[in-house]
Amino acid sequence: MSIVTVIGGGLAGSEAAWQLAQRGISVKLYEMRPQKSTGAHVSDRLAELVCSNSLGSKLPDRATGLLQHEMKLLKSLLIDCAERSSVAAGGALAVDRELFSTLVTDALTQHPNIEIIREEVTKIPEDVPVIVATGPLTSPTLAKEIGILTGEEYLYFYDAISPIVTAESIDMSIAFLGNRYDRGEDDEGDYINCPMDKEQYLRFVEALKTAERIELRDFEREDPHFFEGCVPIEQLASRGDETLAYGPMRPVGIWNPHTNQRPYAVVQLRKDNLAGSLYNIVGFQTNIRWGQQAEILRMISGLENASFVRMGQMHRNTFMNAPTLLYPTMQFRKRDDLYFAGQITGIEGYAGNIGTGLLAGLNLAHHLMNKQSWVPSETTMLGALCHYVTETDPEDFQPMKANFGILPELEKKVRGKGERKKAYAARALEDMKADILESDDTYLTSEMTNS
Ligand code: FAD
Repeated sequence: MSIVTVIGGGLAGSEAAWQLAQRGISVKLYEMRPQKSTGAHVSDRLAELVCSNSLGSKLPDRATGLLQHEMKLLKSLLIDCAERSSVAAGGALAVDRELFSTLVTDALTQHPNIEIIREEVTKIPEDVPVIVATGPLTSPTLAKEIGILTGEEYLYFYDAISPIVTAESIDMSIAFLGNRYDRGEDDEGDYINCPMDKEQYLRFVEALKTAERIELRDFEREDPHFFEGCVPIEQLASRGDETLAYGPMRPVGIWNPHTNQRPYAVVQLRKDNLAGSLYNIVGFQTNIRWGQQAEILRMISGLENASFVRMGQMHRNTFMNAPTLLYPTMQFRKRDDLYFAGQITGIEGYAGNIGTGLLAGLNLAHHLMNKQSWVPSETTMLGALCHYVTETDPEDFQPMKANFGILPELEKKVRGKGERKKAYAARALEDMKADILESDDTYLTSEMTNS
């Protein structure tokens, strides 16, 4: 059997290499540090956490906690190392970052099936099976190669993302459903519209112009490659008071059924998941500091009590248009023995990136052993994430992190937000266990042999 190349010894690549090796497959794991730095990492250790030392809540009825519990069932090396290096942090799984990455580095270095090569990969090898897990700060030479493989238009280097709110927090006595040019006749429209009169609009523009922005760091400023149409709203506002009213807030074709008038400006929100529980604010990429950002966005009529599951932000982020390019197994659609994992697939958050590394490793192993590919049900957090990033609308694809809004509705109505989360989590863990038992994977179904 050929030796697998894993490119990138970060969170996803380390987990992927371990999963392959534990299934008896030889791996060459390429990591460019310390020879070449990303600008954000500071050590030569594998699985270095670049910023926060927290993998999120560990409570099973929280999105990241649920994901961690699922990955324990899937025998994740990195979740095991995180638990062994954890520090007291209330309900969060926070780690001693040095101990964490040392534990991962040691486990991989000592594994008889893994060879670690400290070298930048500048081309994706064509003659061996490969997992690319080079993260948001993929080296520019390799990023160019990936761009050629995927098509330039499907690889993004810089990210400015718009905020996402929960549907239940939008005040529909002010906002209304409808598409442009419906004149309010179609109350089943795809968009939620938040109308503004002139006075509200100008107050909002003024707040945007004076808002404090998050400083971009040096490595984020170099060679920015913007999406067409992703200029932040605060920059648009500073070009002139009416710029937004002619841009993302243009009211043309919008009729407010509550007042029977055309609004002066309108903020549109579009469904962000199939269940319709999350909505993103269309064209509202922003880099305003988060606390102030929430305050300003709550000036929008109908969003006074908005609950945000993601704030707008800008940063360097190499990620691909996964719905066009990948299957939920993380396999590249145009090449059977090529997989991608981690943040480059459009997953956000440490735990989610470890999860896609795990699935890419497992599925490449299955591919090489002629076994069926395997993705847990969409009712599990990991399954939902993988399906979300590979099956959502490719037109307006933006990265996503673990959250309950991407899970399918519960079969039975459950009252109370807390109780609903518990019910989602219980269903997810039950389904994950059943999926594992049904899988054609002896490593998953055998007793824990993780170290
Ligand atoms: P990484 O962990 O970055 O691993 C990629 C690895 O590939 C790196 O070790 C890199 O050196 C290597 N590499 C790159 N190119 C090559 C090449 N050509 N050849 C060989 N090796 C290569 N997420 C959070 O959840 N919480 C946070 O607080 C957080 N803060 C962040 C702060 C910054 C500045 C950045 C850039 C990202 C942050 N993220 C955060 C996102 C975070 O990067 C991911 O959650 C996670 O690290 C991604 O895992 P990954 O394996 O995809 O990439």
